[in-house]
Amino acid sequence: MKLNYFIPQYEPSFDFYEKEAVNKYMENPGFMTEYKKTTEFEEQIASFLKVKHAIVVNNGTISLSLALIALGIKAGDKVLIPDLSMIATANAIKLIGAEPIFIDVGDDLILDWELAKKKLQKNKNIKAIIFVSLNGRGFNRLMWSLIWYCQENNIAIIEDAAQSFGSKNYEGISLGCRGSQIGSFSFSSPKLITTGQGGCLVTDNDKLAKGLRALKDFGRSSGGNDIHDSFGINCKFTELQAVIGLEQLKKVPYRILRKKEIFNLYKKELNGIVNFIETDLNYTVPWFIDIFVERRNELQNFLKENNIGTRAIYPPMHSQKCFDIKENFPKTEYYSSRGLWLPSSITLKDEEIIYICNKIKEFYGK
Ligand SMILES: *Cc1c(COP(=O)(O)O)cnc(C)c1O
Repeated sequence: MKLNYFIPQYEPSFDFYEKEAVNKYMENPGFMTEYKKTTEFEEQIASFLKVKHAIVVNNGTISLSLALIALGIKAGDKVLIPDLSMIATANAIKLIGAEPIFIDVGDDLILDWELAKKKLQKNKNIKAIIFVSLNGRGFNRLMWSLIWYCQENNIAIIEDAAQSFGSKNYEGISLGCRGSQIGSFSFSSPKLITTGQGGCLVTDNDKLAKGLRALKDFGRSSGGNDIHDSFGINCKFTELQAVIGLEQLKKVPYRILRKKEIFNLYKKELNGIVNFIETDLNYTVPWFIDIFVERRNELQNFLKENNIGTRAIYPPMHSQKCFDIKENFPKTEYYSSRGLWLPSSITLKDEEIIYICNKIKEFYGK
């Protein structure tokens, strides 16, 4: 049996409520750029994450660049990052003229804290680290050792939590809000909630928050004036996005639940046939369903023939042509060459998951 429509690997979800909210806003649109609705969106994010400041910006790449600048990272500085991430993590560093230094991940796909600490001890030019909470798996107990080392040695710490809105660490604290000085989220189309494009920086530090707000608005000393006490560019949000974001936020509790159900059903159906990363659903919201398989590309083609969209997990960043660094990161290479994201839309139906799993079983002759 072959499905008569295509199941995409991911598609964002909007409904009546976003439409109504946008229509209502457009009755009296004002300046459209960020204003009261944006402030409301920021306040709700801060309250959901239980963090003091949430500052929205135009995307989750520039947010990382702004975080680096706010923490004093300059052109020529080196910044340590895991080799396994979306390319934005590395390119946000390049954008400000700094240099990404790659390091391998562990079996949880998070930067290997021991390797990272050794690298920092050997290379005193590294001025910052960005650890990436990949797919809702992030900051763990062991990482304190790395965090303390960074604090003692004045190394800036940022968390790229773009994929982890709604996920928590082992203490039940929201990812993006623990261990680092600034956490960064993305609201691009595939993320748990989306405003089309969009990003958000979070911090408990008043001074950093003030610096970030100035950075995203031309370095203005206060809203709308032309007095510039510090450097800044324009990375502001729009009210239209905030209006949509506020509706998306209301759906977060359901989405968290549904993502976990989807993960559980895939796991039950594919148990013993493909590999999963150890995932504690008490804390992790599996944003994309990630499996690790042999003959990945063949499987991908087979699924595509059967109307199932998938996406290969990121290639190791160091090996991408835009970097092309000759080094080996065995774990990143292992997981990267086997990792496959299965359909993970919030609207995915149980019957569709069963169909997908049956096709995967068929491919492996199980
Ligand atoms: C999505 C993503 C980004 C980039 O966010 P944009 O909003 O698309 O710029 C950065 N880092 C990671 C890990 C991501 O998944």
